[in-house]
Amino acid sequence: MTTNSTTITIVGGGLGGLTAAIACAEAGASVVLHEAHRSLGGRGRATSPAPYVVHDGAHVFYADGPHYRWLAKRGLVKGLGWPSPLGFSRVRFRVDGRLRLAPPVSVLRAQSHRWLKAPVDEDFHSWASGRWDERTARQMASMIGVATYDADTGRLSAAFVWDLFQRVYGPRMPGVRWVKGGWQTVLDRMVQRARELGVRIETSSRVDALPEDGPVIVATQLASAARLLGEDNLSWTSGHCALLDIAVRADAKDRNLVFDLDEGAFHESYTMQDDSVAPRGESLYQLQMPVRRNEKHAETHRRLRAFADQVLPGWGDRVTFERTAIAKGRMGALDLPGQTWRDRPAIDRGNGVYLVGDMVAAPGMRGEITINSAITAAHQALGAATHERKVRT
Ligand SMILES: Cc1cc2nc3c(=O)[nH]c(=O)nc-3n(C[C@H](O)[C@H](O)[C@H](O)COP(=O)(O)OP(=O)(O)OC[C@H]3O[C@@H](n4cnc5c(N)ncnc54)[C@H](O)[C@@H]3O)c2cc1C
Repeated sequence: MTTNSTTITIVGGGLGGLTAAIACAEAGASVVLHEAHRSLGGRGRATSPAPYVVHDGAHVFYADGPHYRWLAKRGLVKGLGWPSPLGFSRVRFRVDGRLRLAPPVSVLRAQSHRWLKAPVDEDFHSWASGRWDERTARQMASMIGVATYDADTGRLSAAFVWDLFQRVYGPRMPGVRWVKGGWQTVLDRMVQRARELGVRIETSSRVDALPEDGPVIVATQLASAARLLGEDNLSWTSGHCALLDIAVRADAKDRNLVFDLDEGAFHESYTMQDDSVAPRGESLYQLQMPVRRNEKHAETHRRLRAFADQVLPGWGDRVTFERTAIAKGRMGALDLPGQTWRDRPAIDRGNGVYLVGDMVAAPGMRGEITINSAITAAHQALGAATHERKVRT
């Protein structure tokens, strides 16, 4: 148990800040959390007008890691939604401009080499082209665009892409979980738990300078952390894509999930697993299209709409809600050749300052990196608080 005399300050009230706050408070620490925005949740917030529940992007949790067990143990991810068999029957793969029921055999064959270890130092495209062929390498890179949000996944570390590919499309697929009401529901539960544990939460409270006393956990996006810490070189690679959220009056021809082996796009239904996120009789979708190098956003949006025309035929005449966005550097860490998660910005910044987020040195993908880094940062901050107390006494 830590004494209450040292307060741990947390900057940022998204998934990472809330995880760290709960972990510290559960160990008995006194915790204050500052969130610049008037509401909590960060990128996990639902940002649409009711009755639609649309998030900036985040929607699934991977259930095959310690981060999920941490959430589940606290009852934060209960009330799961699951697609019906009919929902799953509307899954497709876009190959050479056509929607197919399965990826090409060459991709399935390559995927089955689960025991293979890919090199960290080589790029995925070169490694996979050498092992299979150039076309298969390109299709696999595009197929994992669902998790990288990047137009050139082939340039990333082969080990990074291969591990991601096996995880997303491996034998236990799908390892994903959807919580009814989306991430907002999970974040609301986290806020409630943090408050019950006595965490002091200050919203509309932007922190412009780090406090001088007590351990500090900085759980902001990496760019904001760089400003706060005065470390200009604090950065990492992340994806860049155009997003299209649409609700339409439901039609039997609509596809629920489409993995795009041509351009790395992805189409997903939110309503197939949770009909509470749109009015009855409507289906809610999010589509993403990675932005190519030097491509104008208008052109990416044009390609995204062409994709939408294919997966939701005639959607323009049935649309009831529509929103477009560009997400850049907001989808978690991507590792280039020669890098692993251990090379990302360290959690411990020295002098009692700890970094949390989805682009720091912790394993996993996207929100999972955030949770794993938050739990590590909380343990380290608790250790620092105990040390400070001993020095004082
Ligand atoms: C399109 C898209 C799709 C995604 N899909 C998934 C998915 O399916 N699964 C998944 O696991 N992850 C997904 N992610 C990633 C996921 O959203 C993030 O990993 C997660 O939300 C990051 O949480 P965080 O707490 O690290 O950061 P954030 O949510 O960004 O929270 C940081 C908080 O810090 C606050 N802040 C910033 N500066 C200050 C300051 N100076 N003082 C006080 N407060 C400050 C911000 O207002 C913000 O609330 C997706 C992201 C996007 C954009």
